[in-house]
Amino acid sequence: MIKVPFFDYPALYRRFAAEFDNAFHDVCSRGAFILGDDLSEFEAEMAQRLDVSHVIGVADGTNAISLGLSAAGIQPGDEIIVSAHTYVATASAIQSVGAVPVPADIGPDGLLDPAAAARAISGRTRALMPTQLNGRVCKMDAIRALAADCSLMVFEDSAQAMGATYRGQAAGTFGAFGTLSFYPAKVLGCFGDGGAVLTNDNDIAARVLQMRDHGRDQTGEFVSRGTNSRLDNLQAAFLRVRLRAFDLDIDRRREIAARYHHGLGNLGGLTLPPQPDDGDHFDVYQNYEIRAERRDDLRAFLKQRGIGTAVQWGGQTLDRIAALGLAVETLPCTTRYIDRSLMLPMNMALSDTQIDHVISSIQAFFKGTRE
Ligand SMILES: *Cc1c(COP(=O)(O)O)cnc(C)c1O
Repeated sequence: MIKVPFFDYPALYRRFAAEFDNAFHDVCSRGAFILGDDLSEFEAEMAQRLDVSHVIGVADGTNAISLGLSAAGIQPGDEIIVSAHTYVATASAIQSVGAVPVPADIGPDGLLDPAAAARAISGRTRALMPTQLNGRVCKMDAIRALAADCSLMVFEDSAQAMGATYRGQAAGTFGAFGTLSFYPAKVLGCFGDGGAVLTNDNDIAARVLQMRDHGRDQTGEFVSRGTNSRLDNLQAAFLRVRLRAFDLDIDRRREIAARYHHGLGNLGGLTLPPQPDDGDHFDVYQNYEIRAERRDDLRAFLKQRGIGTAVQWGGQTLDRIAALGLAVETLPCTTRYIDRSLMLPMNMALSDTQIDHVISSIQAFFKGTRE
């Protein structure tokens, strides 16, 4: 039987093993472990690719949010409106600077609903921070218009959207700052933890640069309060190897999404993500998240056929995480969405044969259960 694992971590190394080995040898031979040339070159390549003034490599995508918030002047007690359908890290990073995440409901696209965000605004709201989920950017003109009307800042948790664009503009570059994660399973993943802050604001960039290195300025003097949140030079060297294949990777992800769409588009009981197109959204398909009635039965059926799937965040949208201590009412669209949500395999290790096996298995499930 054809096996289709949900994700294949060893394949990340296997693909370019010789190049990664060279990078390892090169960096280690130079002893360039912390804040080396590989990091600054990676940052420059990313800034050029994303058309943003500053890309600052940090320890991970969660730290990127915390550092961005501090650098943007977020204070304890400030409220920040986020999508309920996001990773716990979005909320915990806000809490780490003493601010208050306020989850709002999502639209049918799974992204922060501007109308719901508008309803969540209070006298303490300082910013809107949409999550650019699954490699797709929100309709940022609506988000920015709301922010402008209410004098709010815009931040983006774009951990899942490296390379995605909306009307030609890259995820993470719309507001005061955006963030990226280089967690191994992300579209641009390294071999451990990594992240970045993106910004066009020179002051925010200067503060993040200091904060990630103990509050040190260019001359080495400790001029502000900081922490240690540097992206390892070795990880930056690996990321540069991956960056060379990035456009081809995204082409392949879009090809897989189109193949799923073609094979599954006519099944009732199933809602698919938008297919790749050349309109406002250029999606990078970090995840391929479908919604299905009888989701758990479908999942079990696929498992029997050797196909791995996952429910995003284990189904724990922010409104369901008691440990965060958020006062949040039920969010009908989020609940409806997450209870039907299932992520199909979507990664660079998949062959067309494997994808076709996923498609025919889902077709078989719906045929068998039609009556
Ligand atoms: C992965 C992810 C993060 C956290 O990134 P880390 O690098 O693991 O800290 C934050 N937000 C979202 C939406 C993510 O998917």
